[in-house]
Amino acid sequence: MADFTRTTDAQGIATLTWDVADRSMNVMTADAIGHLSDLVDQALADPAVRGIILTSAKRDFAGGMDLKEIARLQSGGAQAVFDAVMQMHHLLRRIERAGMDPATLTGGKPIVAALPGTALGIGLELPLACHRIIAADRPEARIGLPEIKVGIFPGAGGTTRLVRKLGALAAAPFLLEGRLCTPQEARAAGLVDEVVPPDTLLTRARDWVLSATQADLVKPWDARGYKMPGGTPYHPTGTMTFVGASAMVNAQTQGVYPAARALLSAVYEGALVPFDLALRIEARHFTGVLLNPSSGAMIRSLFLNKEALEKGARRPALPVRPVQRLGVVGAGMMGAGIAHVSALAGIEVVLIDTTQDAADRGKAQSAALLDKSVRRGKLTADAMAAAQSRITTATDPAALSGCDLVIEAVFEDPGVKARVLAQIAAAVGPDCIIASNTSTLPISGLAAAAARQGQFLGIHFFSPVDKMALVEIIRGEKTGDVATAKALDFVRQLRKTPIVVNDARFFYANRCIIPYVNEGLRMVGEGVNPALIENAARLVGMPLGPLQLIDETSIDLGVRIAQATRAAMGADYPDAAVDQVLFWMADNGRLGRKAKAGFYSYDDRGDRLGLWDGLVSRFPPDKMQPSLADVQNRLLFAQVLEAVRALEQGVLTDIREGDVGAILGWGFAPWSGGPFGWLDMLGAARAVDICRGLTAQFGPRFHAPALLRQMADSGARFYDGLSKAA
Ligand code: NAD
Repeated sequence: MADFTRTTDAQGIATLTWDVADRSMNVMTADAIGHLSDLVDQALADPAVRGIILTSAKRDFAGGMDLKEIARLQSGGAQAVFDAVMQMHHLLRRIERAGMDPATLTGGKPIVAALPGTALGIGLELPLACHRIIAADRPEARIGLPEIKVGIFPGAGGTTRLVRKLGALAAAPFLLEGRLCTPQEARAAGLVDEVVPPDTLLTRARDWVLSATQADLVKPWDARGYKMPGGTPYHPTGTMTFVGASAMVNAQTQGVYPAARALLSAVYEGALVPFDLALRIEARHFTGVLLNPSSGAMIRSLFLNKEALEKGARRPALPVRPVQRLGVVGAGMMGAGIAHVSALAGIEVVLIDTTQDAADRGKAQSAALLDKSVRRGKLTADAMAAAQSRITTATDPAALSGCDLVIEAVFEDPGVKARVLAQIAAAVGPDCIIASNTSTLPISGLAAAAARQGQFLGIHFFSPVDKMALVEIIRGEKTGDVATAKALDFVRQLRKTPIVVNDARFFYANRCIIPYVNEGLRMVGEGVNPALIENAARLVGMPLGPLQLIDETSIDLGVRIAQATRAAMGADYPDAAVDQVLFWMADNGRLGRKAKAGFYSYDDRGDRLGLWDGLVSRFPPDKMQPSLADVQNRLLFAQVLEAVRALEQGVLTDIREGDVGAILGWGFAPWSGGPFGWLDMLGAARAVDICRGLTAQFGPRFHAPALLRQMADSGARFYDGLSKAA
């Protein structure tokens, strides 16, 4: 069935309805563009048609371009991409001109976009070419241009039209941050023209077509004497905007995201020329971005593979069994967070701690988060009350009876955990799945205490639970498929992103984060300037430098992990040079942000001020400092080599999980698409070469794993085998 259909009523109003078969949300494809183009041409040429309504048969208008098509387009090369983009521009421009005489700006037929709900990406760029946009008043709908979040920018005229409609300053949050609005917010911002009750949407669109005048059909930028709101780059206020925007983009992206820079160039250059030329400029920059390896890698990890994992790419083929009643034992920071997100997802929760007070405090933590959401207008008071009523608190493990999943989140102590797991196993029914939220203890070691080892696994949430999207599911030696499937069903209920890994010290995410932090600490001990370390990390796209990261997670936690690792490894322990810095900080009471004293100084409210002076007094920087690239290589290779080792050792079994997990779990340079995406960009041969240099200078931790050396020899890439599927 075609994605668009046309009906024409007795008054001569043609309705073009978008309805992609077998999908809950409309997405645009190359075929659909061709088809829409034909329908528009036919309607414009048909003397019986007096105006056109463009709408959707679904609850929403459209979710955007089918990103799989964009991935396909990228493989066709520059000219093919540019031609496809220009074809899109021609269609939208024909809609915008609607058959009018370009010289006199007369004639033409009114075209209105009637948006029943969400309209994103091309789902908004298409309406922006229409003469009027009317949106149904549905607070849950989202309107905007989120392309920048997956490493591209609005390339179907959205960039050029929005800047000409709102001015560069007002358009900036929508283009540069991908800000999404409700229909009411969209009207206030000028993205849409009108918001009406949902059941009057089509009537109102029809009325508008019937009453539209010639002036309604001429876009401001096509009218004589048009001036861009806020001024063009050479206008006094325009200059300020463009200088400020450049600075802001560089501050936010550190120059590593090609899309933000290309977007800004398209806006700047486009503002200086007539509209049609601006569209060509937009198309040229958009083509450049699509062909940049970073945008391909970001689309692959942040959209295609993330979605595949969320939809169960790694799920054993077993019946779906969503969690009905969840038990959470330990109502501390993590347990309370898990209870909160579960209750919000509609799951009944029993939250247990050693005292009623502690359990109630956990529930209160959820109440505080819910209250914040209500105050910000993100949740209704009724939804808050419903979520709260789903959490019951208790101290007796007997309250867990009837749970189909129980997660243990007590202190990180193997003895305490073993006792608690045995209590849980005794309280629940034979089919219940039991999980631990441990961040460091091997799952197979804890399994014995949980009695039915096949039904036991790790479900590792990240802190803060309500914000972090990744959940690491850890299969112990004996974990069965039923338990894995249940954990994946649970993560799906929470709308988070799962990765499934095998059991090993620190699993996957922490295993890679720890060497990153350690490399930073090691450099401090060697006399590398802490400011160089932190800036090098940020300039390569890490959201937090290693010193800031350990301040956030707490230095005493680092000390505890170091002590446990040293105890487990004995004489093989390789991180004494790290510990001299870490332990000295802890001994001096500098435990991180929570103590308002760490590698950084903090004010009374806990806001970060700058690097702490005391650090360079104890570890004075050398006169000769390493190059930026050397520091960046050390910080990146510390992480990616660990990711490769995790793959080699079978902890990771799927590179898609390695990449998605790295970006969502610890913010690994998102522009690169993740550690494996980055190594593919670099090439295995070059990576092995760098490792050789780093090993000679800094030791065997940088020795390239065998897998990488083999790939260097054969010229293979990680995504070679997956390029079609991923
Ligand atoms: P926390 O100290 O804030 O909370 C632990 C809670 O467990 C406390 O409320 C304590 O009273 C309760 N508890 C202790 N013994 C108990 C028992 N026998 N029965 C019932 N309740 C008991 O700790 P947290 O930071 O929430 O960490 C909990 C677990 O989550 C640990 O295994 C930790 O490694 C893991 N984890 C922590 C983080 C993090 O960033 N904090 C991240 C991921 C995983």
